[in-house]
Amino acid sequence: MRPCGDCKACCEGHLAAIVHGTRMGPNPCAFLCGKCIIYDIRPQLCKNYQCLWSQDILSEENRPDKTGLLVSVENLKGWQYLKIIKTKEYYSQSGLSEIMRFARENSTSYVIINCDLAIEIYGPEEFAKIYNK
Ligand code: SF4
Ligand code: SF4
Repeated sequence: MRPCGDCKACCEGHLAAIVHGTRMGPNPCAFLCGKCIIYDIRPQLCKNYQCLWSQDILSEENRPDKTGLLVSVENLKGWQYLKIIKTKEYYSQSGLSEIMRFARENSTSYVIINCDLAIEIYGPEEFAKIYNK
């Protein structure tokens, strides 16, 4: 696993979660003030979360705060897929290409969620049906 460095993309409200009783998403986590101010007592949820980049799968230069692309590995009714969130209006096209290449090489379905919440789904029809339910 890679250390996150200065990245805070998963704390900025792009993911929905309850953190110590406070809702995150669409607003940033209430405990994010430049950095996590409760890092030592952050919930298990935060300790467990690993984006695709922090799993050492994507190139070093494609860290989420640099590309504007936050990628989570998700499970939906037995389907493992990538949830790709465009966190910025301008995102890295080469970063997206690397993610899509990884998905293709691993036959993994993926969804792309834009800032405006428009969703693009890539994968077998069966996955699209389950995702849209
Ligand atoms: S988005 Fe990934 S790299 Fe960035 S802080 Fe979260 S886990 Fe770390
Ligand atoms: S508690 Fe800390 S690590 Fe967890 S989402 Fe909030 S700022 Fe991020």
